[in-house]
Amino acid sequence: MPSSAPASLLARIAARHGTPVWVYDAEVIRGQIALLAGFGVIRYAQKANPNLHILRLMRESGALVDAVSAGELERAIAAGFDPRSEIVYTADILDREALERVLATGVPVNAGSPQMLEQVGARAPGHPVWLRINPGFGHGHSRKTNTGGEGSKHGIWHENLGEGYDLISRHGLELRGLHMHIGSGADYEHLGRVADAMLRTVRDCPFEVRSISAGGGLPIAEDRHEARAQIAQHLRRWERVRDIVAKERGIAPVVEVEPGRFLVAQAGTLVTTVRARKMQGQTEFVLVDAGFNDLIRPAMYGADHPMSVLSPDGVWRDKAPRPMLVAGPLCESGDVFTQDPQGVVRPVALSPPQIDDLIAIHDVGAYGASMSSNYNSRPLATEVLVDGDSVEVIRRRQTIEELMALEISGVTLMAR
Ligand SMILES: *Cc1c(COP(=O)(O)O)cnc(C)c1O
Repeated sequence: MPSSAPASLLARIAARHGTPVWVYDAEVIRGQIALLAGFGVIRYAQKANPNLHILRLMRESGALVDAVSAGELERAIAAGFDPRSEIVYTADILDREALERVLATGVPVNAGSPQMLEQVGARAPGHPVWLRINPGFGHGHSRKTNTGGEGSKHGIWHENLGEGYDLISRHGLELRGLHMHIGSGADYEHLGRVADAMLRTVRDCPFEVRSISAGGGLPIAEDRHEARAQIAQHLRRWERVRDIVAKERGIAPVVEVEPGRFLVAQAGTLVTTVRARKMQGQTEFVLVDAGFNDLIRPAMYGADHPMSVLSPDGVWRDKAPRPMLVAGPLCESGDVFTQDPQGVVRPVALSPPQIDDLIAIHDVGAYGASMSSNYNSRPLATEVLVDGDSVEVIRRRQTIEELMALEISGVTLMAR
């Protein structure tokens, strides 16, 4: 079974805290961090899983952090990261709230548009900045996770960097580094091309380049040896860039890597309860109590998450698997966990579950809870962190009352 936590523990957590419930394994996260130890900086892209307890775990393990909104900046600070030296704010715009917080905290801004440089420079000459560069190509596990190339909104276009450099000079901004992130779940061939593009960019840069970021997007591998070999090769390509720059410019830039999914995906399991089974013609459906309001990756990207069935008392069921569709409770036809990227249902082989059996959906630690919504007025699910013998609730379940509490009445905004 591809689960990090044993079946008996998942079943006990489900019995105690109800389902759906997210279960994360701290040791898996530490193991992934260790795989990247050769990089100068590991900067966790917290949008993958921004729970404060996960952020603290990252910090204790030596990782730094990326923030992409005012909310993520507050989270990183609450988790103990120093905004001036340990957080970078990466985005393509600065909304007004974010601009104020960026200026107040001094967090370096990784600018994906020239306007960000202008808006920061006009208010705070000398502020530290990075340039997020769109190298003209991208790649991801899905069309929707490609963040480079002409069709992507991200980054300053590689041919327009001159404008960025001019703005840095005009406002006396302090250039901290150059950054490229081409997509989530890219392959190592495309990630390797990023290193070549970075070398060309550094050579043309009129400023000293102290840091270069390889971005995130590292794919996850089932096999640890394979992961180790892939990372070693990726690191070598970036160390080569670092060493060439050191020779040509006399200063070796720090090489950063900025993964989200790689660090947390395999640490997470979503445990759900089977509540109905039915045949629709020849097609067998298993209906569970988690929906795309909890885990949207299958509906949004056609992401394929392995699943396993376990009894309520925590024994894996692996007998006589047959093709089934697994779907959720939402009033929405796309609420199916087994579908391809075109939205066509894709049966998976599962051992037939009984009602009130559990289904563990694996590798959901990244972009799982962080992309959950309240669709169909379903509350956000509980999150649990397992760390050796310790089992801790790191987010309690939201209540319906909390949902409705935002919808206050009697506040007159203005006269028409
Ligand atoms: C999302 C994101 C990442 C992380 O992507 P993963 O695929 O989760 O590794 C890194 N950098 C930036 C700027 C991002 O937006």
